[in-house]
Amino acid sequence: MKHSIEVKGLKKSYGKIEAVKGINFYVEQGKLFAFLGPNGAGKSTSIDMICTFLKLDEGEIWIENLQVGKDDQKIREKIGVIFQDSLLDKELTVEENLICRASLYELKKKELRRTVEDTMRLVGIESLAKRFYGKLSGGQRRRCDIARGLLHRPKILFLDEPTTGLDPQTRKSIWEMIQRLQKEEGLTVFLTTHYMEEAAEADYVVVIDEGRIVAKGSPSYLKEKYAKDKLKLFCNNPEKVAAQIQWMGLDYETVGDQIWIKLSQTIEALPIVEKVKEGLYGFEVLAGTMDDAFIGITGKEIRD
Ligand code: ADP
Repeated sequence: MKHSIEVKGLKKSYGKIEAVKGINFYVEQGKLFAFLGPNGAGKSTSIDMICTFLKLDEGEIWIENLQVGKDDQKIREKIGVIFQDSLLDKELTVEENLICRASLYELKKKELRRTVEDTMRLVGIESLAKRFYGKLSGGQRRRCDIARGLLHRPKILFLDEPTTGLDPQTRKSIWEMIQRLQKEEGLTVFLTTHYMEEAAEADYVVVIDEGRIVAKGSPSYLKEKYAKDKLKLFCNNPEKVAAQIQWMGLDYETVGDQIWIKLSQTIEALPIVEKVKEGLYGFEVLAGTMDDAFIGITGKEIRD
């Protein structure tokens, strides 16, 4: 599998603050990659360097086999960057905004129109063409911002918290569009998000904290490794079951007539349930989530 992005020994300090302390990772071509970390972890600093906007102190970054610092112009042609602050003009219509932007790419007039129309179709904003950008809803604006980043047909799309600030339904539709672009257009998508249910749908996740990478892997790997499952026993006789659990040397928590036990692996539930089944009227095993994994890795919630 080819690497779209390769980061080796990357470091960056702002005066005495070591924001990024030597990180290594890669992103495979055509994959959905989530870069996670609590506030101040070093995400923006890393992304700014990867996108050629900030000079690195040490290390190497390769984008589609081009090196940051040496081939920056060519790299910029290969990447689309959508940050949270939009670059579009509120006083212009969606179409005018996109034409304005596309005219930077030295296309002939006919080609330019076609590019803008194709891009609007790609993100589902054809019906908004004549509307003023400033009058659109949050979700509609986000689609337009993404369209701007796609005009030059990049191979990699960087998205900084693309769904933050949107209502749940709009979030879902923007998320589905991002997944569609990745799958159908073969784009490599590099994103940051505070929503762990989105991170759980990424192909690969890197977690950064205090300038270092503290975990990386697929969401299922990270959940298995860092998030504990929970066994909930529904008890006819909680005292009796608790005594048995205690005798087995397990930590537990009593909640009403339920006893909760943390498990490292789902399979550990079997012998416990077998042992105490006489005292139960039911049980369930809840799988650890990406939220649990994130807290397990960093000891922090994703938002302070
Ligand atoms: P994140 O994007 O994960 O929130 P940042 O990359 O913005 O993290 O910040 C990493 C660290 O570098 C933090 O301690 C932050 O205060 C510091 N930092 C970021 N940008 C600057 C800057 N321009 N000047 C000085 N310190 C900065």
